[in-house]
Amino acid sequence: MRVLISADMEGVTGVTCPEDCEYGDPRWESARHLMMSDVNAAVAGFYESGATQVIVNDAHATKRNLILSELDSRATAIIGTHKEWGMLQGIAESDVLALVGYHTGAGHQGILAHTYIGQSIRDVHVNGVSSSEGRMNTLLASEFGVPVVLVTGDDLTCDDAATYAPDSEMVAVKECIDRYTARCLPPSVSAAKIREAASAALAKKHAVATQAGPFTFDVFFDSANPVMACTAIPGVQASGETAVTFTLPTMRETMRCFKVVSTMTSASREAEYG
Ligand SMILES: [Zn+2]
Repeated sequence: MRVLISADMEGVTGVTCPEDCEYGDPRWESARHLMMSDVNAAVAGFYESGATQVIVNDAHATKRNLILSELDSRATAIIGTHKEWGMLQGIAESDVLALVGYHTGAGHQGILAHTYIGQSIRDVHVNGVSSSEGRMNTLLASEFGVPVVLVTGDDLTCDDAATYAPDSEMVAVKECIDRYTARCLPPSVSAAKIREAASAALAKKHAVATQAGPFTFDVFFDSANPVMACTAIPGVQASGETAVTFTLPTMRETMRCFKVVSTMTSASREAEYG
């Protein structure tokens, strides 16, 4: 059984504020160790249950967060910004998927809730359903025939996962009090829970979510400027003063288009006004 761990950072044990996730910040430097603790716990649990290969794909921001010297020696890590399948690089060589350190979507409660970029995007609907990164990646993975078997993050991320991957094992490593405030488990305690859940996850059979295309993305912004920037992309149309829409036959194509939409959205922003 070949396992892909997509490792994000906002849902990692003890991570509660933007500085914990910002490349180069002293708080980020210490949060990277917490990320490795959660990741290694999942790696250990999967090998306990018969995994033959575990790839850890760095899925946060610049995707240069994992500390290779701390990685379980049985796993390999994909570290680097530009990759065809982004948060799911390695999916084509894997049988099951784990979402570690995930978070809720933009416009919802949850620790560091956002969708792709921390500001500007207010919500994203996929075929009319408000969708977190976890939900989008589950749909994308299903096109590769790969089920989600484990999700870790705060308690609200687990509630979200129950709607898109109900058969997966879920571990809440912290309880959301507000977007930047959580009641956190110590890393040793969350590691034990993640290890046990990862081991249990491979012992079960998992159905692959199936949802046929086409897929329509509606992206809602908190201001008008991203609309002009994003409609430069062929096929992306304005659907309101502060929203764009696009439709493509598969999640493979919509996720690649959404990556460009989020890049153009970031490029359209000004520091103070957004
Ligand atoms: Zn992230």
